[in-house]
Formats: sequence, structure tokens, C-alpha cells
Amino acid sequence: MIKSQRINVFQYVPFLRGVLRSRLFQPVLTISTLFFFTLAIVTGLFGTPVGNRNFGIVFVWIVWWGLLIILLVPFLGRLWCAACPIPVPGEWLQRRGIINRRKGRLSTLRWKFPKRLRNMWLQNFGFLGVAIFSAIILTRPEVSAWLLLGFSLIGIILSILYENRVFCRYVCPVGGFIGLYSLMSPVEVRVQDPQVCATHTPKDCIIGNEYAYGCPWMVFPGTLERNTYCGMCMECIKACPKNNVVINLRPVGSDLMVAKERRLDEAYKAFIMLACALLYSVVLLGPWGWLKQWANMDTLPHWLAYAGVFLLANLLLLPGLFTLTALLSQRLGRIQLPLRQLVTDYAYTLVPLGLTAWIAFSFSLVFTNGSYALGVLSDPFGWGWNLFGTTESTWMPFGSALIPFLQTGILTTGMLFAVNTAYKIAGQHTPNPRQALRGMLPVTGFIMSITFAFLWLYLG
Ligand code: SF4
Ligand code: SF4
Repeated sequence: MIKSQRINVFQYVPFLRGVLRSRLFQPVLTISTLFFFTLAIVTGLFGTPVGNRNFGIVFVWIVWWGLLIILLVPFLGRLWCAACPIPVPGEWLQRRGIINRRKGRLSTLRWKFPKRLRNMWLQNFGFLGVAIFSAIILTRPEVSAWLLLGFSLIGIILSILYENRVFCRYVCPVGGFIGLYSLMSPVEVRVQDPQVCATHTPKDCIIGNEYAYGCPWMVFPGTLERNTYCGMCMECIKACPKNNVVINLRPVGSDLMVAKERRLDEAYKAFIMLACALLYSVVLLGPWGWLKQWANMDTLPHWLAYAGVFLLANLLLLPGLFTLTALLSQRLGRIQLPLRQLVTDYAYTLVPLGLTAWIAFSFSLVFTNGSYALGVLSDPFGWGWNLFGTTESTWMPFGSALIPFLQTGILTTGMLFAVNTAYKIAGQHTPNPRQALRGMLPVTGFIMSITFAFLWLYLG
């Protein structure tokens, strides 16, 4: 962590520490989101089957998704995880309470989560499992409701078996990509002085005290260097008797440069997210109606073929092409690093690219369909209610002329950031700037080709 590049927000907004130390902070967020989450499930199960008239579809897959990927993750990292309603019932059960810190250990069966699963692989496969059904989930309220209910049930079961937020850390398919893309966020929870932590033996932030629980995400703030696994729950800010935990502003994408924590499971998350952004753009926004029907399971053989190609592209095609790219880079830049490690390292260049690709995709989705939100606010079940007088509001795409400009802008930004990251990563493996430049060339080619593919899809 380069300290000079950090701004401690508490220095300029001192009352924020008080807000975050309050035990009300997280429950206020989660109880609010739990209300909408429950409404999304109930409307999904009992409301109209017409997706764009159902609160569950419109608010989850357009409003929440748009907020998450366009605003929350890029600007505030994992803050959504502090507000997320999915693990909340399980967490309340563990804690036997909602607001106050109950004395004693968490109430669970204290099983040990298998070591082999303490990584992102479950989240990778979970995301793919949801993604191959996404055309169905996004349009059928009942399926969407069962999925949300299923997530919550898995959260409860895991909270009964294991201590802390095992669901969020190792299982939640959404949490996986939020964690990866929060590497880009300009906000972080970090200790101000790691030396203070090194000498503070009680480690309240790990074991908890009478004011706060030990870190529910099972990380030690004293050595935290990346945002990926910090759920921004603020428990450590409450727990630390030394007031050593702060919120920092820092340069965008700082965590991408933390070389020692790069991992293949996270690299695969980057591949999967980029491939999915590309495939979703083809299927959901492209002009090929038949493809949308195949994804929507018009016949089982069609869907099986679609799912097969989808999985192949995610697990083999894109990672395979990227491995060839890294091999070329290894040769050109004379980089003395095993290929597997080089592929893993370079995969972090796909984080800015993937995030901006998802933002570009979401501009289309949100601006084109966002107006449905007005109607479902007044009539969440599609039963003909008119709570706020907006039921009859007509579908009105917003800013159609603006979308291509926004998409071009954000994709270009992502591409330049990714290319710059490739140069820096190559530079971490060779002290010679010319070699680093040669080494980054194939990766730059890969990044530019993918960007042009997106631009071609969006601009036609
Ligand atoms: S309680 Fe505070 S000072 Fe002690 S180890 Fe944790 S963050 Fe560091
Ligand atoms: S490091 Fe602190 S803010 Fe992050 S998850 Fe752990 S307790 Fe919460």
C-alpha cells in the first residue's frame, strides 16, 4: 500500500467514523434492502408472469443491477455486500440478534469449511450455472423468485453449519465478481498503521469484543491489501480500540498491482466475467432473434447447444486464447516466469476491461428498460393497482442517442486502463522497460480485439 497516495476520509469527514461505529449502520441498510428483497420474491411468486410488469424482475434485474454495476461497484467496491439482504437472516440467526452485540461466540454447529473450497471456484461455477439460465431468469418472475429464495436458504444453511459469512466469502455467485471488480474501486477499508496492529496482541478485529463481532469475512484488517474479500461491514472500525481502521480514498485500480495475492481462481473469474459480458451482449442485445430463443429454451436441444457453446467459450475458448497471448508475451518480453503464473498475472488486465464492458452493456439495459420501474412501483404485482398514480406510464427508452457515446467512452477508458495495467504487470517481471513494452504487445492486441468486438456489437 502506498500511503502517500491515500486520503483518510475520517480526517476530512470526522462524523463519518461515528456513523460507521454505530451498531445501527448495517441493520438500517439491510432491513431496508430486505424489505425490497422480500417484495421481489413475493411479487415474483404471486404476481403477473409478464416480466416487465412485475416488480421482482424490473427492480432486481434492471434497477438493482444498474445501480450495482454502474455506480456501487466502480465507486464504492463491496459496499453493496454490507447492505445485501441475502445473508442477513442467516447472520441474525448466528448472532441471535440484529443490532446489539450479543455476548459469547456465534451460534453455529462450528463445522470447518473445507480448505479446498476456500477460494473463488465455487463462485465461478455458481455464476456460470446461473448465467446459462439467465435468459429464463431475467424474463420469468417465478424462476427469478425461486433463485433469490434459494440463495437466501443456502445462506441460512451455511450460517447454521459454519461461523461467519461463508456464503458471501466462498459461495455467492454475485459476491465473486463484486469482489474481483472492487479491486478497481477508489475506496478501501484499511488500517492506518500496520505497525500498531503488529504489536496489538488482543486483535479485537479478529476475535471481536463487547462492541463488535470479529471480522465476519474472516480477514485480518492489519494485513489487508486488497478489497476482494473485505465486505465493508465496518465491524473492525467498531472493534478496534486503537482507532486504527479507516476509510481511504485511493487511486482507481490500486489493488491490481498487489502481485503477491494474484490467484488462478480469480483469474478465471476475470475470464468468465469478460466472456459472459460478450456473450450477453450477443444474445440479449444483438440482432439474432433465434439465438435469444435458444437461450430462452424454446426447445431443449436448442438450449443444450446454446449452454454447451456458452460453457465452452467461458472455460476453454477465452482462457485458451489468453494463454496463447501470454505465451507470446513471455517469448517477446523474455519474461522468466512460469506460463501459468504469467496468465494469472495478466488476467488482472481484464478486470478494468470486464468492468467497463459490463457497464457498457448495462447502459443499454437500464436506459432502454428503466422506465418500466415507474409502472411497477405503483403496481408491483401487475394486478391493476395504482399506488402512486404511475401505473399507466408508458415504456419510454431514455437517452437512446446518448447510449452509443457513453458505451464508446466507457469501453475506451477500460481499454486504455487495461493496456496501462498490462504494461505495469509486464514491468513487474522484467526490469528492462523495452522488454516490458515488447511483452505487453500481445496482451494489448488481445485487449484491443475484445474492445473492438464490443464496439462492433454496440455500434453495429
Ligand atoms: S484491533 Fe485494531 S489495532 Fe488491533 S490488530 Fe485489529 S485493526 Fe489492528
Ligand atoms: S475487514 Fe473490516 S470492514 Fe472488511 S469485512 Fe472485515 S470487519 Fe468488515
